[in-house]
Amino acid sequence: MVNINTVHRGEEQSSKLSRRRFSVSKNGTVLLESTEIVETYSKKLYSFHELPEWQKDNELIIQGYVRETNSWFKCFHSLSYFHNESINIYTHLIPGLVYFIMLLFYTDLLVVPSFPSTTIMDYIVIDFYLLGAFICLVGSSCFHCLKQHSEDQSNFWSKIDYVGIICLISCSLISLLYYGYFDHFIYFKVFTLITLILATICTVCVLDERFNAKNFRPIRAGFFVVFATSAVIPICTGLIKFDYVEVINRIQLRFVGWETFFYVVGALLYGYRIPEIFAPGRFDLVGSSHQIFHVMVVIGSLFHLKAVIGSYEFMHKSLNVIETAIQ
Ligand SMILES: [Zn+2]
Repeated sequence: MVNINTVHRGEEQSSKLSRRRFSVSKNGTVLLESTEIVETYSKKLYSFHELPEWQKDNELIIQGYVRETNSWFKCFHSLSYFHNESINIYTHLIPGLVYFIMLLFYTDLLVVPSFPSTTIMDYIVIDFYLLGAFICLVGSSCFHCLKQHSEDQSNFWSKIDYVGIICLISCSLISLLYYGYFDHFIYFKVFTLITLILATICTVCVLDERFNAKNFRPIRAGFFVVFATSAVIPICTGLIKFDYVEVINRIQLRFVGWETFFYVVGALLYGYRIPEIFAPGRFDLVGSSHQIFHVMVVIGSLFHLKAVIGSYEFMHKSLNVIETAIQ
């Protein structure tokens, strides 16, 4: 008896094997004994033109797609093999989980006990930022893993992705506003209120169906850049109120500058689809604009953390100096 495995691939059969059992009689006649359909989890990847219309987003990425799965299991199973969303998933999943671990332990063990003047607000403000980073990065990796499920799920998770970015920007701005205006609390309150209003407007916009349209890509990127650059208002106010060096120290402006650089360059590359626009198909699996954007977001978020910790230290050093002067 011989077993011959035949692979049949049709529209809906990409993950099914049809196993046929044959036997060969003495006179050489081949007899079909049974046919059984075996569910497997095929690693077949698709090209852009094989995708359903709703899944077509970037025609410059040609190969390596996981086609609409209509299965949660298949979406999660796609974590185990390499496709054109793998780097997008892991560049945010791993740092997101690291931020979560930091959220649990970092402030308690490493940062906050540094100064006796530390209050509960320091824990809240630093953890608030870590929480924003965690929500943004994990929400993004969920989107990139689960958008293959179906059009409805893709739309739902893309909104989670956008709301995550709004969380990260809001938590970033508010954490620095606290340290920038630690002795001018009314400014902190006013600018926090402005940030929350802008965040609410952004959230309403991203929940609108039109925001997800393909031709909205540069507008989407620009939208978040505008929200993030609203930080210019409290920084300019600070420059008027304090001197330049004081502002640099209060919010660790050099790290905020690097953070801004990475976010803006990442968003521009994403918006203009660089580098794949110069060589369609060459960056399908590694090196596409979206992947570079992800890495830049992570680097930018680390610079922000550095700025928040530096600001915390500057504030408490200043408070200790004032306390010593009074004594
Ligand atoms: Zn993404």
